[in-house]
Amino acid sequence: MAERRLLILGGTAEARTLARAAAALPGLAVTVSLAGRTRAPAPQSGTVHTGGFGGAQGLAAFLADAKIDLVVDATHPFAARISRHAAEACSKTHVPLLMLARPPWRKRPGDAWHEVADVPAAASRLAKLAAEGRGHRAFVTVGRQELGAFASLRGVELVVRLVERPETPIPLSGAKILTGRGPFSLDAERALLAGYGIDVIVSKNSGGDATYAKIAAAREMGLPVILVERPALPDVERAADVEATLAWIEARLG
Ligand code: NAP
Repeated sequence: MAERRLLILGGTAEARTLARAAAALPGLAVTVSLAGRTRAPAPQSGTVHTGGFGGAQGLAAFLADAKIDLVVDATHPFAARISRHAAEACSKTHVPLLMLARPPWRKRPGDAWHEVADVPAAASRLAKLAAEGRGHRAFVTVGRQELGAFASLRGVELVVRLVERPETPIPLSGAKILTGRGPFSLDAERALLAGYGIDVIVSKNSGGDATYAKIAAAREMGLPVILVERPALPDVERAADVEATLAWIEARLG
């Protein structure tokens, strides 16, 4: 039987795990695409495509040119634009699409969450907590792109964790920058929060295990967490984990 071609839209730990497992399936050629934001991305299995496609139209053209048979959107749940493009391009080219969508974290007893709609709303809530004397040093893990939302904050120190040290300065002059790529352990997150005297956390509701330890540590330590809710994602077929995604792929390989 002719070789089939799978495109995984990546940039997440699940995408890497999926690519490794899918690359081992007989008769399947795997391409993983990365946006190209990280200078030193983690090693990937399969052929790597780096950089955008040029919108939904560009992605549709890529699917046709590369003769892609299946697409898995394994991007981060906050990468909503590429997911919209994938839904549009796959619908246009009739290529089956599955979204590997890890469930969001659910609030547990003891969690002191402040759920907000987006990163600017998280910055406003942090300002409010600081004004009330309930946040003096914040641990911020919302990625690099939207840090500008925190630029005008006063009366609160920021400790920002990024995947890698930025090439250009971030728009927060006084912030302490830490670097690290998950998974993070509970012990390490506890030590980090205590070591830096953190009294409030700002995070996206990313879901998954790799970055959950800070949420568990905050619960143990009684710290408030300002949690950015998920953006709306296209209504496409979904799987919650890598195992279910592999089953979907194998079913289509016949
Ligand atoms: P986004 O806003 O949804 O996408 C912006 C543009 O980047 C897309 O239109 C596309 O460009 C390109 N792009 C995004 N993901 C791509 C991929 N996997 N392969 C090829 N092109 C891609 O995405 P984002 O929030 O900037 O995230 C960028 C990447 O970082 C994603 O791959 C995501 O999985 C990863 N990531 C994001 C977050 C987060 O919080 N947003 C966290 C961890 C990892 P064209 O229109 O030119 O095709």
